[in-house]
Amino acid sequence: MNLAEFIIRIEAFNANVNIPLIRKAYEFSNQAHQGQMRKSGEPYVEHCLEVAFILAEQHMDSTTIAAGLVHDVVEDTDVTIEDLRIEFDDEIAELVDGVTKIGAMKYGSREEQQVEYFRKMLLSMAKDIRVILMKLADRLHNMRTLEHLPVEKQKRIAQETRDIYCPLAHRFGINKVKVELEDLSLKYLESDVYHNIMNRVDERKEEREAYVAAFITPVKEALVKDNIKAEVYGRAKHFDSIYRKIRIRKVPYEEIYDLFAIRVIVNSERDCYHAMGILHSLWKPVPDRFHDYIANPKPNGYSSLHTTVFGPQNKMIEIQIRTHRMHYIAENGIAAHWLYKEGKQQMSKSDRQMIWLRDVLEWQKEMTNPSDFMEYLKIDLFSEDIFVFTPNQKLVHLPLGSTPLDFAFQIHTDVGLHCAGAKINDRLQPLSTKLKSGDVVEIITNPNRTPSHDWLNLVKTSSARTRIKKWLKQAGFEQSVILGKEIVARKLKELRFKLPSDEILQGYAEQLDKKTLEDLYAAIGNGSKSSRPLIDLILPDKKAPEIGFVDKVIDRIRGSKGIKVYGMDNMMFRFAGCCQPVPGEEIIGFISRGRGVTIHRSDCSSANHLYSINPERKIDVTWDTAKGQSFIVQLKIIVEDRKNMLRDITQAIADADTNVRAAEMKTQDTTAMGKFIVEVSSLSHLNRILDKVKKIRGVISVHRAKGVESSSD
Ligand code: MN
Repeated sequence: MNLAEFIIRIEAFNANVNIPLIRKAYEFSNQAHQGQMRKSGEPYVEHCLEVAFILAEQHMDSTTIAAGLVHDVVEDTDVTIEDLRIEFDDEIAELVDGVTKIGAMKYGSREEQQVEYFRKMLLSMAKDIRVILMKLADRLHNMRTLEHLPVEKQKRIAQETRDIYCPLAHRFGINKVKVELEDLSLKYLESDVYHNIMNRVDERKEEREAYVAAFITPVKEALVKDNIKAEVYGRAKHFDSIYRKIRIRKVPYEEIYDLFAIRVIVNSERDCYHAMGILHSLWKPVPDRFHDYIANPKPNGYSSLHTTVFGPQNKMIEIQIRTHRMHYIAENGIAAHWLYKEGKQQMSKSDRQMIWLRDVLEWQKEMTNPSDFMEYLKIDLFSEDIFVFTPNQKLVHLPLGSTPLDFAFQIHTDVGLHCAGAKINDRLQPLSTKLKSGDVVEIITNPNRTPSHDWLNLVKTSSARTRIKKWLKQAGFEQSVILGKEIVARKLKELRFKLPSDEILQGYAEQLDKKTLEDLYAAIGNGSKSSRPLIDLILPDKKAPEIGFVDKVIDRIRGSKGIKVYGMDNMMFRFAGCCQPVPGEEIIGFISRGRGVTIHRSDCSSANHLYSINPERKIDVTWDTAKGQSFIVQLKIIVEDRKNMLRDITQAIADADTNVRAAEMKTQDTTAMGKFIVEVSSLSHLNRILDKVKKIRGVISVHRAKGVESSSD
């Protein structure tokens, strides 16, 4: 490319380009680099022209293009920054100074060196962000011409590009440069992979083009029909992204169909949504693959609609829909801010990238540990992860979708296990809140608070999940031990006997094939083993009496059928006296110390009270009734005091196919109040009974009573 050619080409990007300045910069650079050759054998100034051209392609201003032309004079010739200041101006001199300083930095393999590199680079960018755009353009051209360097140097430069420049280009949204840098890095770092993918892509080119045409044609027609002006095309994905897919999904090359994606470019935001509607009506969308980055732009400013549909032959096709402006920003990122802004050197302070940069710079001052800083940069530069902070400004790295509970476990297991609430940016928020990058999260702990089963639905990280499960398992065991011991002790008490010493009991446990007494108690507590064999061992002479009153009581409170306790097998439960749930009603369970799970109706006021003071004891339960199973309900009936009333009520209840367990009637003046304990099989059964009773002549009211027993937990 010679100067005349260069000028014609850059005018296509920026009609207002300052041609005298460009000419002057070119002449200056050509003079300074006189006699220097690139490894490729070309005059050195050729590199300067290429770098300046890459900047022009991004619609950079004349100052930056001129600075691009002279970017290497200080590093590679006798020219000084002061010379540039005199010959040109402060702006160009500062830009070249920034680029030169970055060039002088040594990139090493040690983490501290890498961090130092980043740190300095960020500082130089902070003065003028165009420095990084120049450096990226310089690196891009060097990568394009890397083949002329010795292999060792190729690898080192490619590695540095992958580690530092690709993430930076990504962070600043300069996608066009990023994609090319990634592919070139792959080419030199993993050349087998690169060539393999290249061959695959080539091989299937015709097939692919035919496929794309089959997909696009009806789309274009439908868009025209709806008067939407659009460019629709298939684009091959870049190699590095194909490679990442192969690696992440662990699929062979043969199975990578999506070597290409479809792009739709329209005139307005409204047309984006309209076009998407058309696409979805033509091709069935894949569920959960729609992302609205117009409503929620990415942190680097990227916006578009993304969707995936089932195309011809049921293959999944990714589609991006965007306006021309969005497309421009998607390709050029931060550089887009110079578009039509000739002469303006300062970006608005509110620009996302500027905010990011300012934050990073703040951060790097405080982070004295290089690995912390590197970790921070990695998270923010590379992944879809989020980073949040403790009130003491400690950084916590979490995957996207994490909640305060994940955060709490990340801080410390004990903080997680006793997490009682969370403040996000100083406001109390539910533990289910999805955290966003930059949130400051404060965990409120309470030593009495412990994990519950629904926590498993709240956490995203596997580390938190594992720790909650471990705790629940342990707690379930302990609960069963307490319960088992209580059952045995109660039976013995009824027989006027005391528990023998643990030493003796340990012996019995072994006789009953349990390693420890705790294991035996747990088995009794969770219902997998009867208490009888142990009782028989404790009372060798006196044969344990036949199942008596105690057993009956325990059997009544101890269910092993009728309820499923989410996540736990053989959990003991009892039905709460206060609300007497019957199948068909919504229920919740509460873990009660020593008594397994108590089942309440979910609208029960005492259950709600329990929940408000001990929410962590709540547990998910569902009905799991067997045929013929019955549940106890107490009815309160107010009637006119007349002859045969009790008989009529009992008869009506019997007519509804149920038993009366107990009945009691008390007369007050002209009315009487009756209490009936009945067995029902379900809610509809209960309603049938209520209907029958209501129809009896002289019945004033009938309700389910509250509190069949005095206890109410
Ligand atoms: Mn250079």
